[in-house]
Amino acid sequence: MSDASFDFDVIVIGAGYGGFDAAKHAADHGLRTAIIESRDMGGTCVNRGCVPSKALLAASGRVRELADAEHLKGFGIHAAPVRFERQKIADHANQLVATIRSNLTKTLERAGVTIIRGKGRLEGAQRVGVREINGVDRVLSARDVIIATGSDPFVPPGIETDGRTVFTSDEAISLEWLPRWIAIIGSGYIGLEFADVYTALGCEVTMIEALDRVLPTFDPDIAKIAARNLIDGRDIDARAGVLARKITPGAPVRIELAAMATKELVETLEVDAVLVATGRIPTSKELNLEAVGVATNRGFIPVDDQLRVLVDGAPVPHLWAVGDVTGKMMLAHTAAAQGTVAVDNILGHPRQIDYRSIPAATFTHPEISSVGLSEVDAKALAAQEGFELGSVRSYFKANSKALAELEGDGLMKLLFNKATGEVLGAHIYGLHAADLIQEIANAVARRQSVRQLATEVHTHPTLSEVVEVAYKQAAAAL
Ligand SMILES: Cc1cc2nc3c(=O)[nH]c(=O)nc-3n(C[C@H](O)[C@H](O)[C@H](O)COP(=O)(O)OP(=O)(O)OC[C@H]3O[C@@H](n4cnc5c(N)ncnc54)[C@H](O)[C@@H]3O)c2cc1C
Repeated sequence: MSDASFDFDVIVIGAGYGGFDAAKHAADHGLRTAIIESRDMGGTCVNRGCVPSKALLAASGRVRELADAEHLKGFGIHAAPVRFERQKIADHANQLVATIRSNLTKTLERAGVTIIRGKGRLEGAQRVGVREINGVDRVLSARDVIIATGSDPFVPPGIETDGRTVFTSDEAISLEWLPRWIAIIGSGYIGLEFADVYTALGCEVTMIEALDRVLPTFDPDIAKIAARNLIDGRDIDARAGVLARKITPGAPVRIELAAMATKELVETLEVDAVLVATGRIPTSKELNLEAVGVATNRGFIPVDDQLRVLVDGAPVPHLWAVGDVTGKMMLAHTAAAQGTVAVDNILGHPRQIDYRSIPAATFTHPEISSVGLSEVDAKALAAQEGFELGSVRSYFKANSKALAELEGDGLMKLLFNKATGEVLGAHIYGLHAADLIQEIANAVARRQSVRQLATEVHTHPTLSEVVEVAYKQAAAAL
């Protein structure tokens, strides 16, 4: 299926998880593949996202556990005061990043992918320009081009960053210092995970959320119980409905807080540091998308479910986009899944991505996870299709394993179609919620009914019985 009239069969722009999976899948299937990367192999996830943040959470989570005298007392354990070395925690994250980045690069090399270090752009149909790091600029041709340029942190107007006292997750990830008092702007999953790290390591946190409740992107019932434990139960002062309208770096950092509704100044805070965690924006500005007539949606590249790039709703031949730059569930595993789906379509094996079955997790202690529809969307679907929506709750406090761990604070909410039993969504807060969600994600992917799922035997005693109980309750409600 190779076409010698092109320099490559496939050129991928961007070597994050989306680009990596696309390039590997293409090369594994015999396509002559090149990948262009302007920064670090592995992209956000490996260098500035999932990987280092989970390393910091693993280390700080242990500090939290060992410092939680009340929890340990419940087991009859009395530990000495915990000591930790900030630099060694940071080193653990850096070393992990280096290992994974190197493994990933070697995997692509072994698969036969040509790695080009430089900045890629479109130069018309099936043509990619690249300014290599050595300054050479050339234009390459490819039968298919996949854009996988990802995203960067969004810094709202009025906020000035200096990378040292006011910074985004790009810098926070290196844990260069531990401010005594840090304000975190935004209570989405990135803000929450860093609040988990900072409070475990003894920092005082003020969390500022512009919307009218903290954790606005989570199911409201799950957010309530999560906020009680992850925010109220810690050294965190959380404010909702306030806007950080101006932030000036320095010592101290000055934050002007305004009421969201009136935009009037309500308070000025002086803190040691600020982490801006207000979302991410697509990296598409310098791609020269005009060369192929693509108009973005606030920078996001429009694609269909086969990952073909759209112009006025119609696919552009041989042009694909995957990952964060498409704005669809901006997660590493979504990007990777999109990458392989795009290549399958290039290979002539038509496939679509099923966003409903893609799970999401926040790796706080304990974790939060979800899959499928939110309750609001499920209600809308029920009204539209004329079925009754079922909703059941399963509690960790009724689970033997959770109780053995003295971790009974947790909740799972399961949403299902009462007519067919089909699982529509699930939302979990509790110990190992990120692992628990996978079972439900698989059920959503197969559009399975709780009638069948309720008969499946779960290991005792495990946290998975929280899911079993939910399935059984739902089946009984049909
Ligand atoms: C702090 C943090 C924690 C996170 N934790 C998780 C998590 O636990 N689980 C999860 O699923 N997701 C997590 N994410 C999200 C995840 O990192 C992203 O969804 C994922 O990296 C998206 O992959 P991507 O391939 O689309 O883009 P990216 O990973 O952003 O990669 C894009 C690559 O393209 C390169 N590039 C851009 N423009 C050009 C160009 N013109 N030419 C050449 N190269 C270019 C960039 O340098 C970059 O390397 C986290 C993100 C952050 C910030």
